[in-house]
Amino acid sequence: MENGYGQMGIIEFQRRFRTEAACRKHLLKLRWPEGFRCPRCGRRECFDLPKRKLHQCKSCGHQTSVTAGTVMHRTRTPLRKWFWAIYLVAGDKRGLSALQLSKKLNVSYYVAWTMLHKIRQAMADRNQLYQLRGVIEIDESFYGGKKEGGDKRGRGTGKVPVMIEASTFDCGDGGRGLGFARMRVVDRVDAATVESVIGEDVAAGQTVVTDGWPSYNVARRMGHDHHREVAEPGGSNAALKWVHILASNSKAFLLGTFHGVGKKHLQSYLDEFCYRFNRRRWEGELFDRLVTACANSTGVTYSELTA
Ligand SMILES: [Zn+2]
Repeated sequence: MENGYGQMGIIEFQRRFRTEAACRKHLLKLRWPEGFRCPRCGRRECFDLPKRKLHQCKSCGHQTSVTAGTVMHRTRTPLRKWFWAIYLVAGDKRGLSALQLSKKLNVSYYVAWTMLHKIRQAMADRNQLYQLRGVIEIDESFYGGKKEGGDKRGRGTGKVPVMIEASTFDCGDGGRGLGFARMRVVDRVDAATVESVIGEDVAAGQTVVTDGWPSYNVARRMGHDHHREVAEPGGSNAALKWVHILASNSKAFLLGTFHGVGKKHLQSYLDEFCYRFNRRRWEGELFDRLVTACANSTGVTYSELTA
């Protein structure tokens, strides 16, 4: 598909995806761009069982559907509604609430809420495919809880610590531009946590910039070039400019749409924020990218979300 949301308006979207068959055909193209491939044996020939919307492998007899193993697996919600949800989420920069989506799609709040969480899970899965490279600013910020009291590390405030990582690049004019972002809800910012987060999110042998908090010293032991930049007392830390901007932008995003998010779901909303942010230069392709993400994500069940 050439046109994404931004270029593809609502009339074009309606025209293209007005039937279940059209949505299914589009998913087939995204999941198996070179044609069917059996998920069990890898062979390419199948019988179509159109009534049950299944494909049966000619070699091993395995039956699969285009939605198997995706966020739309075993869904009772029509694919058309899924496509609408993805289209609306892709187009709404401020983040769509479950209440808004339930009204737009004429589904229950519960169905809308589950769909949104599955779409966010697909975004999170996508985020996790990439590691940060280059010069990476890392700092923590505290979300929610009371505004007053507590120091920068948020001790005793009931706030949730989030580690924010931002890759930056040389603009050529002496300044540094912002590349990609990751955000991780953590229990505490100790050395073990820092090590596990950096280990997952940052490629080997990069340059890591942090403040003087001792837990970050683990970066050097991990083989990164670690720059500790300690701010002037009372001043802001210029070396961590981009993570601080990301912290305040993500807090505005949460406040604007979700009116305070509990710790349990905070990661999921931050994943949406980072997913959008990291694709800000490809806004016109967001619908296509998000359908692709949903067609390749395993998704989570409602019981997993509420457990
Ligand atoms: Zn097979």
